[in-house]
Amino acid sequence: MAESAAVFVSEPLVRMPSAPLVHDNQVGARRLSAAGVRRISVHSPYTGELLGSVPDSGPEQVAEVVAAALRVSRSWAALPIKERTQPLFRFRELLLSNLDALAHSAARECGKTVAEAAAGVEKGIEVVEYGLSLQNLDGGASLEVSRGVRCELRREPVGVVAGITPFNFPAMVPLWLFPLAVTLGNPFILKPSEKTPLTAAELARLMHEAGYPEGVFSVLHGSARAVEALIDHPDVHAYGFVGSSKVAASVYTRAAERGKRVLALGGAKNTLILAPDADPALAVQGIVASFTGCAGQRCMAGSVLVAVGPCDGLIERIVKAAGAIQVGAGMGAIIDPASVDRLRAAVERGVADGARVVLDGRTAPAPLGYEGGSWFAPTVLDHVPPASHCATAELFGPVLSIVRVPSIQAALEFEHASPYGNATSIFTQSGAVARQVSDAAQSGMIGVNVGVPVPREPFSFGGTKGSRFGHGDITGQGGVELWTHLKKITSKWGTNTDGSWMS
Ligand code: NAD
Repeated sequence: MAESAAVFVSEPLVRMPSAPLVHDNQVGARRLSAAGVRRISVHSPYTGELLGSVPDSGPEQVAEVVAAALRVSRSWAALPIKERTQPLFRFRELLLSNLDALAHSAARECGKTVAEAAAGVEKGIEVVEYGLSLQNLDGGASLEVSRGVRCELRREPVGVVAGITPFNFPAMVPLWLFPLAVTLGNPFILKPSEKTPLTAAELARLMHEAGYPEGVFSVLHGSARAVEALIDHPDVHAYGFVGSSKVAASVYTRAAERGKRVLALGGAKNTLILAPDADPALAVQGIVASFTGCAGQRCMAGSVLVAVGPCDGLIERIVKAAGAIQVGAGMGAIIDPASVDRLRAAVERGVADGARVVLDGRTAPAPLGYEGGSWFAPTVLDHVPPASHCATAELFGPVLSIVRVPSIQAALEFEHASPYGNATSIFTQSGAVARQVSDAAQSGMIGVNVGVPVPREPFSFGGTKGSRFGHGDITGQGGVELWTHLKKITSKWGTNTDGSWMS
């Protein structure tokens, strides 16, 4: 913990590029010139070193990328879904054969461990596999609704669509979006986080190698300005956004005001409810992995532990297990120095509000050779006041705030008061308590003895309240609904009495 010696690292934690990468907007394999456009520098959270740069696109660059997508829009939509699915088979194989390179690319730009980054790509591959099944699953419907009159239902692409993604999953979150969108017939523009934009070029390279026609998948780099121009562009019809709640709300509002389809997933403060009868092994492992995984920088991190009744023994074990985690090999880095400062300030605020620091990761030494990086070790605050900042705000780091309550009912009342609704987990051995929490909790994703209750395909991912703006979910069937509209065809034909030419 705070006073322990620096960790000796025998092998590099992550591979770095031999020279900074210079990436541009990309339509298929074609790089678009961004001469004269300001560039955004990308630094590794592991070391602080320069990894590369991307253009900070404005309306002109947005128009260029959208025009390329529009050129292919009709021909791509007109292909039967079985034909549109063929490159996805190859893309899946390419993801698997490039898993290691993708994992290192994502890890070095967002700070997570290579193993965590690889798991993110694997989760993305599950979405690809769901996309592969759409050709067989989504058969539409047809029914004779009255004598001689038939109604037919078809799913049709919505046109050029875009995905706007956060820094913390440079491969996985884009993979939640574009495999389904393109398979369903929509040219897709990815606007990755400007903090972690470099892995997007790898995805574009693999999409090109897989055989997608130019314009079906494009990468547009930039920040808020690019997002606003993308939303304002009349030829982009639907948006999948994943990021913080504040930005999700503004993206949702801007798109909806323009009559566009939008699903915007936001931030979270996920509640872990600990009952005193919890299985200690399941609870300790599940809770520690939930708040320290990806250094707490994921929307499914369980960051507030609501301990019901006498839980001191379990909490001691949680603190001990979290304290044994070494930054570097055991837990990744924080995205940037400003976020480390923000976490330090939040812990100080927690103490001022009356919380006790029972595990202090604020001054943990960096792994040797990684002193230029942004590090913050697991930190646990106990007796956090339920209405305080640490108990209610998304801190986005490896900080667990423990709130003490006397009953499951009180734990549920705490959960109901949260402005967020991504995930809630209960740790108990009682089926009745598990059922009570699953029934009453307001989050969109519930875990029973599972600290990170991410639904796997074919189930969809999505929260409620301030964690989701718009309707539906982002993967699984939710993705199918986001990226298609329903066409209803009602037909009536005269009876053919002359059988000669058709017979
Ligand atoms: P962010 O909201 O700062 O950025 C997300 C995207 O929005 C980026 O592409 C960014 O360029 C763009 N953006 C930023 N400011 C903008 C503005 N004013 N107008 C338009 N676009 C803007 O989020 P982040 O810091 O990159 O990611 C972390 C956040 O994402 C956390 O809150 C986390 O909980 C959330 N997240 C949510 C999910 C989910 O599924 N609910 C998944 C991953 C991350």
